[in-house]
Amino acid sequence: MGLCFTKTYDIPISSSPEQSPTHFCQPQSKQTPQNAPKPDFSSTTLPKPPISSQIGRILGTPLCDLGSVYILDKELGRGQFGITYLCTEKTTGLKYACKSISKGKLVNSKDIEDVRREVLILQHLTGQSNVVEFKGAYEDKQNVHLVMELCSGGELFDRIMERKIYSEHDAAVIFRQIVNVVHECHFMGVIHRDLKPENFLLASSNEDSPLKATDFGLSVFIEEGKVYRDIVGSAYYIAPEVLGRNYGKEIDVWSAGVILYILLSGAPPFWAETEKGIFSAILEGYVDFKSAPWPSISDTAKDLIQKMLTWNPKKRITAAKILEHQWMRELGGASDKPIDSAVLTRMKQLTAMNKLKKLALKVIAENLTEEDIKGLQQMFNNMDTDGSGAITVEELKIGLSRLGSKLTESEIKQLMDAADVDGSGSIDYIEFITATMHRHRLQNEENLYKAFQFFDRDGSGFITRDELKQAMSHYETVDQTTIEEIIEDVDADKDGQINYEEFVAMMRKGTRDSEGKQR
Ligand code: ADP
Ligand code: MG
Repeated sequence: MGLCFTKTYDIPISSSPEQSPTHFCQPQSKQTPQNAPKPDFSSTTLPKPPISSQIGRILGTPLCDLGSVYILDKELGRGQFGITYLCTEKTTGLKYACKSISKGKLVNSKDIEDVRREVLILQHLTGQSNVVEFKGAYEDKQNVHLVMELCSGGELFDRIMERKIYSEHDAAVIFRQIVNVVHECHFMGVIHRDLKPENFLLASSNEDSPLKATDFGLSVFIEEGKVYRDIVGSAYYIAPEVLGRNYGKEIDVWSAGVILYILLSGAPPFWAETEKGIFSAILEGYVDFKSAPWPSISDTAKDLIQKMLTWNPKKRITAAKILEHQWMRELGGASDKPIDSAVLTRMKQLTAMNKLKKLALKVIAENLTEEDIKGLQQMFNNMDTDGSGAITVEELKIGLSRLGSKLTESEIKQLMDAADVDGSGSIDYIEFITATMHRHRLQNEENLYKAFQFFDRDGSGFITRDELKQAMSHYETVDQTTIEEIIEDVDADKDGQINYEEFVAMMRKGTRDSEGKQR
């Protein structure tokens, strides 16, 4: 799986020391967090507890003690920024999900703004049919907590894969809800920016449970005339104009188009071994409808995908128009004929592999300290000798050698190419940080080794099935077959276990589908 470009870094703000004790919780609701705190007691079933006199630096509301209102239970999942727990409201016994974001990870004003925006957008969108219901935001000394509806049905692809039969009609029922989210977001003036299968959960384990979008961590409000430039999202799903750093809400339609392509074929449309390769494929824009199972998929489905993966965002179909497309019509359109079972198998492999890689990246990311991030920023400032805010190849060369880097000419060129997403020939600050974070995270042997050790519990130099099972069950619920499939996929020398070389190879590669499709 590709890494996520999800963060940009600017000036770190210093955190004020927090001394006074915290008291009880007051949800932060329907109010702009930047404003002076105006606790709102009306919208909640909570008692009216004494509020700490101290104002949290993230939400701008009084600090509180979440434990006085909720009991945090087992971990439900982890993402890039937070850990989500099952939680129970003490007074009612009702179950919720609580995403806890460690304040220690919010090192600069941009990070803080991002969390505030996530809260505002959740509050703004709650009540839409395919958006998770939001309960409230709380801040204590260590964390910001977002309490929301519990989606107990698990991730979308996991549920699809449990099916025995899967038809275009089934895919259309699922996809309608995904498009609904896009439509609801755009209608409410929000660009989602991170549409991907992992961010859709099922509300319950019922057969006909609705699908809910849960993660608005990268979403932004649409501002008239504003040009968005941040490179965000996950590699497979990124629209070409995001890479060109000039985009609007149409990017969500593209990402949804990528999801539909995977829903019908089990493989991503833009695929390569490396992230850079994936980006090249996206910029090329060629969509393969020739390989299996496409010849047996309906023309209306292909027509819809084509319209969604239209390169020019101005000519791309809109969310409202997708809902009216023939393939999406409630009756008729999509066929009941089962899709080739290989599609489900491929989807399974894509998902399993993503999970292992994500888990490994998590271990690595957790080892990236605040100091590392500050260090990167210092490094940029040092290299940008003329203070222009951009580094040229020359500056990069001089800077790296001054830092005692042993990178060769060609590696510097590679780094430059990898970082210079807009092809301007110089790297700006965001590009630099993103690229170095990548190098730092993925190519730093020490971090990779730490991740390997995390899985290799007994230090034997091999990751065995049991160890993998143990490690993964800590975070995810995985069955034996999935573990077998992961080992099968990563285990190049077929000895039934994963050694360090195989692990490193996996981390450095893009995700391969079962047919090893190459472009
Ligand atoms: P991040 O912004 O860090 O990616 P997410 O909001 O995507 O965080 O949450 C991370 C994981 O936590 C999800 O992939 C999912 O497994 C789990 N999760 C998030 N929200 C809920 C919820 N409302 N109910 C159940 N599980 C959830
Ligand atoms: Mg997420």
